[in-house]
Amino acid sequence: MKTAVVERADTVGGRCLNEACIPAKAVLRVADAYKEVTEAKDFGISVSGVDFDFAGAAGHRDKVIKTLTGGVSMLFDKNKVEVIRGQGSLTAGGNVEVDGKEIEAAKVVLATGSVARPILGLEFGERILDTAAMWLTSAQPKRLAVIGAGASGTEVASAFGRLGTDVMLIEALDQILPLEDKDIARACQREIAKQNVTIVTGANVESVEDTGSAVKIVVNGETHEFDLLCIAAGRGADTEALGLDAADVKTDDRGLIEVDGALRTSREGVWAIGDLVPGPALAHKASDEGIIAVEDAAGLDTHPIDYPYVPRVTFCSPQVASFGLTEAQAKEAGHDVAVGKIPMGAVGAPTVYGERGGMIKLVGDKAYGEILGAHIVSAKAAELIEELVIARDLEGGYPEVARSIHPHPAFAEAVLEAARATDGWLIHG
Ligand SMILES: Cc1cc2nc3c(=O)[nH]c(=O)nc-3n(C[C@H](O)[C@H](O)[C@H](O)COP(=O)(O)OP(=O)(O)OC[C@H]3O[C@@H](n4cnc5c(N)ncnc54)[C@H](O)[C@@H]3O)c2cc1C
Repeated sequence: MKTAVVERADTVGGRCLNEACIPAKAVLRVADAYKEVTEAKDFGISVSGVDFDFAGAAGHRDKVIKTLTGGVSMLFDKNKVEVIRGQGSLTAGGNVEVDGKEIEAAKVVLATGSVARPILGLEFGERILDTAAMWLTSAQPKRLAVIGAGASGTEVASAFGRLGTDVMLIEALDQILPLEDKDIARACQREIAKQNVTIVTGANVESVEDTGSAVKIVVNGETHEFDLLCIAAGRGADTEALGLDAADVKTDDRGLIEVDGALRTSREGVWAIGDLVPGPALAHKASDEGIIAVEDAAGLDTHPIDYPYVPRVTFCSPQVASFGLTEAQAKEAGHDVAVGKIPMGAVGAPTVYGERGGMIKLVGDKAYGEILGAHIVSAKAAELIEELVIARDLEGGYPEVARSIHPHPAFAEAVLEAARATDGWLIHG
């Protein structure tokens, strides 16, 4: 199909590459490298005069963004995708208008993502930042408060804490990473608390005041002062400029665009994907939806996404990765639940590499050995989760994973042992 992308920002690659996933992971990678250097003495390597300058971290981040957005531009050129600069909206007739000029389009995919919405009646500014502004900062704060200990807030705390900032991570619910299984959140919390991060769960934020030179926060009756506050809670679909009503595209009560399994909206010829539609707000989910929408638009057969089984990762240290049901959700849904747990230190590789923190927990259904949920807190969790995703996609269960030969010594042996534990024959543990 003759294809054009309408983008109002100066660069391509969306928020993921320019202000979200990628800059975040670039700064987190610097925190990992810093830790490796400062803890090198555990391996008999003495390093003196270690000096960290945030400008270097920002330089790495900016270089990564430039390389990856450059790659997207190259792909557009290679595949003859035209990029039209400007703000796009739908016309009543189902075409696209860019800054007043109408472009005829037989098929339109909406992919305008989401924006941060300030909570607690606050406004974003110089000292009160959303997560995008936090990751793009050029100066490291000495004292940082983060409100919201979901994936984004926990990543901010883990990065800046390890780089030397005094961080307070503030969460209203009774655990960090509230969507994760309780055992996993607890194991992660233990590790984050060692990273210069004070964690306040069950927090009641009574007031926030930007004094002009600091941010004063009263939480659970105590007053604290910070250089910056990062709000890592509350996002909404970026639909304001799209003209959805005029084009008769329906949204739900949360402002998300209503779609079917092929990402078709209520308006014929218009599809919507990514953070604009229900499901986890994740880049790989958005990307897969893009493929499905285009397959459908091209008249090909396609398949709907099984949303609870989209893997989700928090790139704090150690990483947290999961999909499917927690133990509590599986029990509540009435499954005949089997649970297998293994601490990472039970197998060889994490000990060899000095990364013993964390655990794996599998939640299965005894009837057919189905993997209902997989939950990992460990170094390399983002890679480890994928074998369980594939096992499930290929209709394998935990008994099959338990009989699949894994290389030694590898972190993946902990996945093997967790599967064996779920199947009732744990060997190392
Ligand atoms: C700090 C942070 C870290 C994250 N980390 C991860 C991660 O590690 N892994 C992960 O999977 N997900 C992560 N996410 C989520 C991920 O960024 C989003 O799920 C993903 O970017 C959604 O992709 P999208 O295509 O829907 O929209 P976006 O990436 O938001 O892109 C939308 C694009 O549309 C443009 N646009 C908007 N309106 C218009 C208009 N009217 N006309 C023209 N252009 C317009 C915008 O400029 C933007 O470029 C993170 C999010 C944040 C905030």
